[in-house]
Amino acid sequence: MFSDAVSRYAAIGAKGITVWRSAIEGLGPTAAGRLARDQGLAIVSLCRGGFFVSGSEEGRRKAIDDNRRCIEEAATLGAPLVVLVCGADPGVSLPEARAQIEESISALVPDAAASGVRLAIEPLHPMYAGDRSAVNTLAQARAICSRVDSPWVGIAVDVYHTWWDERLEGELAACGAEGRLFSFHISDWLTPTRDLLEDRGIMGEGCIPIREIRGWAERAGFRGFIEVEIFSRRLWEMDQDTYLERIAAAFLSHA
Ligand code: ZN
Repeated sequence: MFSDAVSRYAAIGAKGITVWRSAIEGLGPTAAGRLARDQGLAIVSLCRGGFFVSGSEEGRRKAIDDNRRCIEEAATLGAPLVVLVCGADPGVSLPEARAQIEESISALVPDAAASGVRLAIEPLHPMYAGDRSAVNTLAQARAICSRVDSPWVGIAVDVYHTWWDERLEGELAACGAEGRLFSFHISDWLTPTRDLLEDRGIMGEGCIPIREIRGWAERAGFRGFIEVEIFSRRLWEMDQDTYLERIAAAFLSHA
């Protein structure tokens, strides 16, 4: 439950929370925002918008409408940012998918500006290029940002998705210099990874040099929240208070 999550996050010393739309469906954004702020938590972002890519005009239009609702929800919640998982479709080529993504984000810029909500493109690991995001590198995300050219559009960098990229340090520096480094997510990469979506590790369990990458982000000027984002069926099955304690300890020693 959302109220349970915010009180437990506050209890372990977390200072902020990113809210998933699905987690506040019954509650609504006004009440959810109040609950989080009552616990002293800043709302970092609303997760998530995007999924712009479709083989049909109707699908693309519906996606833009849904993103407009998402931006409104973020404003009501008090979230300054919406994370975008930009979408992909096995029936749409990657270049065409990226063009659709760019066009859809451009169409949403006036909504973002009117609501005072920033949009952060999150490049996803290439293993998701078939069905979740055609934006797979920081370079691709930066290229879209520079063409859309709005202060409301930037990038969410997640170490899980980007750690393998040999250009990461330079891309982070460029991203910071352009004022586009909006969010920073951490978790760890397990070997083997048994599930494409829900087998992330706690920081220190895997092979991502999290502290080094965080250093690159901070040298690039990033001063926002370091957000822990771990999707894991294995860890969701354990006692959740113990899980939170493990996260807090891992944050201090590995992030
Ligand atoms: Zn992320």
